[in-house]
Amino acid sequence: MLTPLIGLNTSELCALVKQEGEPAYRGQQLARWIYRQGAHTIQEMTDLSRPLRARLEEKYQVGRARVAAQQRSRDRTVKLLLALHSEEEGVPYTVETVGLPYSEYLSCCVSTQVGCPVRCAFCATGRSGYSRNLTAGEIVDQVLTVQEAARDNPPPLDRVSHVVFMGMGEPLMNYDATLGAVRLLNQEVGIGMRHLTVSTVGYVPGIRRLAKEKLQLTLAVSLHAPNDQLRQQLIPTMTRWGLDEILDACRAYFQQTGRRLTFEYCLLDGVNDNIKQAQELARRLRGLNCHVNLIPYNPVGGTGFAAPAPLRVKGFREALERAGIVVTQRAQKGADIDAACGQLRRREMGKRAG
Ligand code: SAH
Ligand code: SF4
Repeated sequence: MLTPLIGLNTSELCALVKQEGEPAYRGQQLARWIYRQGAHTIQEMTDLSRPLRARLEEKYQVGRARVAAQQRSRDRTVKLLLALHSEEEGVPYTVETVGLPYSEYLSCCVSTQVGCPVRCAFCATGRSGYSRNLTAGEIVDQVLTVQEAARDNPPPLDRVSHVVFMGMGEPLMNYDATLGAVRLLNQEVGIGMRHLTVSTVGYVPGIRRLAKEKLQLTLAVSLHAPNDQLRQQLIPTMTRWGLDEILDACRAYFQQTGRRLTFEYCLLDGVNDNIKQAQELARRLRGLNCHVNLIPYNPVGGTGFAAPAPLRVKGFREALERAGIVVTQRAQKGADIDAACGQLRRREMGKRAG
């Protein structure tokens, strides 16, 4: 198989062309074509000589994934299913990526794994099992593909300026590729570090390792419960680290980076959304430089969970605010498409099985 170029940074591309007997600056041209121009083929790179392109094509390819399915919502949310270059029993692996238009910017939600090994009880991704980690190049590809799909949007919604690692998979369990993608997005694609958000289920070794990198990205930690007992029911595979240990790692993250933490809390009707639980959560978070992002549940068939009524969400939010916690609420996007992460992939997999 041809070696993919996507995933290599400028200096790696410079080293690669030097091996081909070319001057190193040709590597910068390659990087610009891949990450700024969004080239899909080496043939497109018209400022490289024909013989060089032909030589490169014998060994390499850009390595972009194919769009296998696409859904567009009335609010311009776009959800893509990408077919990767590797397969299992003749069927390509697929991952989801989403373009989320806000009033002032376009955000891309990327996946970091095919499926997810954590298997949270309420999550569509967790329910479809786990196959493999993505590479840094496969993560960056998602941003370039969403950008292409948004080409006809009015500015500034025609360019991805923010990336959230909140798609399929647990980013910190695929640490090297996640960090590789963060660096490529920042240095090659040109997205500001402060516009990158990595979301973790609370994988403590990963949080501690990330803190040491001292990057200016935002860390979002999914809590979903104010105590270990309830958290263990929702995330049964992550019992090794209790809330105290997670919050300790978060304090260390703040001390080392100076970045305010985001805590995500997915509201499940009658499970984790009462006022007492809000008060308990506020007590646990007291003194931490953070804000809580409330995510009303996006219903996924077969989980048994439901979204709370808006009034319950409001009650929970106000209880946190009364206790001095800063709260934001995730606006629902793409309500008319398979908006919950992992849903489009499950639907497409179901079609094939049927
Ligand atoms: N694995 C990481 C990142 C991907 S999930 C994590 O768990 O943080 C990103 C966020 O979406 C998490 O907070 C997760 O709990 C939430 N989520 C998953 N399924 C959801 C659903 N059906 N409705 C609402 N939020 C969901
Ligand atoms: Fe994995 Fe995150 Fe889904 Fe949990 S919520 S199964 S950690 S993707």
